[in-house]
Amino acid sequence: MDPRAAPADSAEAGAPRPSHRLPRLRRGAGFIAALLCLAVLLVVAAGEWAAQSERDAQWDNLRRSGEVQALALRGVATRYNYLPFTTAQHPLVSQLLHHPASQAVRDAANAYLQTVNEHAGSDMLYVMDLQGLTLASSNWDTPNSFVHQNYRNRPYFHDALGGDTGRFYGVGKTTGEPGLFVSAPVRENGRVIGVVAVKVRMEPIANPWEQLRDPVFVTDARGIVFLGSEPTWLYRTSRPVPAADVQLLQHNEQYGTGWTPRPVPWALRLLDDQPGAELHLAGNGKQYLALEEALPDLGWTLTVTADSRVVTVARQQAWALATLASGLLVLGTLYWQLRERRLAENRQARIGLEQRVQERTHALQQAQAFRQSMEDSLLVGMRARDLEGRIVYVNAAMCDMVGYTASELIGSLPPYPYWHPDDLDRHWRDVDIVQAGKASPQGRENRLRHRDGSDVYTMFYTTRLIDGHGQHIGWMSSVVDITAQKRAEEQQQQREAQLQRVQRVITVGEMASTLAHELNQPLAALVNYAAAAKSLAAQGKPELLNDTLAALSAQALRAADIVGRIRRWVRQHPAADAAREPCDLNATVDQSLALLLRAEARRHGVAVRLDLAREPVRVSADRVLLEQVVLNLGLNALQAMQSQATPAHGPELLLRTAAEDGHACLQVLDRGPGLAPEIAERLFEPFFTTREGGLGLGLNICRSIVESMGGALLARNREGGGAIFEIRLPLHPAPATAANPP
Ligand code: ADP
Repeated sequence: MDPRAAPADSAEAGAPRPSHRLPRLRRGAGFIAALLCLAVLLVVAAGEWAAQSERDAQWDNLRRSGEVQALALRGVATRYNYLPFTTAQHPLVSQLLHHPASQAVRDAANAYLQTVNEHAGSDMLYVMDLQGLTLASSNWDTPNSFVHQNYRNRPYFHDALGGDTGRFYGVGKTTGEPGLFVSAPVRENGRVIGVVAVKVRMEPIANPWEQLRDPVFVTDARGIVFLGSEPTWLYRTSRPVPAADVQLLQHNEQYGTGWTPRPVPWALRLLDDQPGAELHLAGNGKQYLALEEALPDLGWTLTVTADSRVVTVARQQAWALATLASGLLVLGTLYWQLRERRLAENRQARIGLEQRVQERTHALQQAQAFRQSMEDSLLVGMRARDLEGRIVYVNAAMCDMVGYTASELIGSLPPYPYWHPDDLDRHWRDVDIVQAGKASPQGRENRLRHRDGSDVYTMFYTTRLIDGHGQHIGWMSSVVDITAQKRAEEQQQQREAQLQRVQRVITVGEMASTLAHELNQPLAALVNYAAAAKSLAAQGKPELLNDTLAALSAQALRAADIVGRIRRWVRQHPAADAAREPCDLNATVDQSLALLLRAEARRHGVAVRLDLAREPVRVSADRVLLEQVVLNLGLNALQAMQSQATPAHGPELLLRTAAEDGHACLQVLDRGPGLAPEIAERLFEPFFTTREGGLGLGLNICRSIVESMGGALLARNREGGGAIFEIRLPLHPAPATAANPP
């Protein structure tokens, strides 16, 4: 696994992906376009709906207004239908028709017509003979009197002549004023003898129309406007009039003399699915909704109009409102979409983040597992401390090495639980050295105490602990367990010591066997001479006895000579001056400890204590032999403590050096049984031993060696129990003089 791979992956995951953005942008643009189309449709639809609603309302209004106007129109038009008929029944009228030349009858008829006309409220009332000549009229006394006027060419005259009721709207021939002419025949015995006609003015109904905002007009059966709110439209044709009709109209002068057909200044356009049509005014371009109300009984058509602008305004208002609403809708939708997108992006980002956190956590777990297994596989102990010396980290190997768990070690300050009780000074010194930044890069050997009480030998390599900011935050030590190596070395040393001991024993044994061999002869001779002397004394042969005794003492002397020689050899052999050299008793102690003594003491479970002189204690000696002596005395001390430990004190081997009174002194002190008086006086005798398997020559030889160097070997009891063996040698002159020996 590569823990660095995860951040790279996640960085890639966090990067924007343009390939995804493009379709989204396109989607967004498409959506906005669709939205705008919808908004436009909405505006258009709203406009159309409003226009249609307004139009419907206008149609309704027009329908109502048309009905009202038609009612009024019909009311006025039919109001005097009775009047010609009723007037025709009057005897004065038939009398007039029978006697048209009679002035009296005429006057009476004129008066009668005038009175009736006044009462009825009609415009004119008059009577015509069968030729159309007016015989009497309600306006007989006015300048425009109809009397003597001929209306033969008027259709209403012909209708009445034919026996029908005639109705005709036209411009008055005499007055030039328009009006509705209604006529009825005057019958006598079923025969028509004359015609009565009434003229009704339509102004009372048409005048208020001029006050109206929108045009109202009435057309006749030919489509000619004859009544309306717009005076300029009067007598103009709304559709083509056939030439015959034109002729007829000109003939009967319905719309005045000199009338010619002129089209109205507007055009009607029929609307699909609408109750009316649209009226387009030429010139100002105005448009009206036009609704026609047919009056079939009169042959007329009433047209009421309403300005189309209200529809346009309604449409525009609807557009404005719909635009506003659509704008709000579009904005709202865009906002909503934006918000949704942001939410989606946030959601996406959160998912991405969670994914990255998961990836990172996974990577960290992997890295942690990797580190953990790496640490667990390490045989080298790792220990980190902060600047105060507090342990902040230990690995499994370190825990195994000292037998404490990580939780027991982490947080502890010196002295650490695994410090060796015998090396506390040294441990403290090491702490000081490390704190001072003087830890040796070569490492330092350290003896630790395992929780189970065993000693652990280690090498500590300590370096500064630097954090991610380059700050020095403590110390990191790697700890190598060298106990096995140490044990191997000790075993080697022990083996060597064993060898030395064996060699020593062999040397001493050889010496003993030589002694035995050398002494055997004189001793056997002594025994023989003694037996011979005894027998000669019993036989009473004094001369022979003397000789035998002489020979016996000669053998005894020879034995003494042999022993003397050996003593001399022992004394003289190592005393050769060539082997002597200046040496320091402190170094001798160190050396003998290093050689065997420390290992032996450990084996015996005896603590070694040193009390060495500050200055070197110089002597002139055979260094090797002197070391052997110290070694011998040390081993004796250990053996003595093994045989019996002092109850008051624990077993302890103390080596002390000093220079006093011109002497160099090296003492070996123990806490063994000490020296009983009977032992003390025989200590240095050859072959004196209290130990099983002992030879009893060690001390004797040691004394010989020390004495050969001009010194003395002394023994005494120690205060508090134990023995003191002391090597005393003459002090060697100071180094200055030693450099130039005499
Ligand atoms: P060996 O060691 O073979 O017995 P040594 O000459 O070295 O011969 O010792 C002679 C005797 O001196 C020992 O047997 C012992 O009784 C006695 N001795 C030597 N050293 C001590 C000592 N440190 N404490 C008590 N007794 C001792």
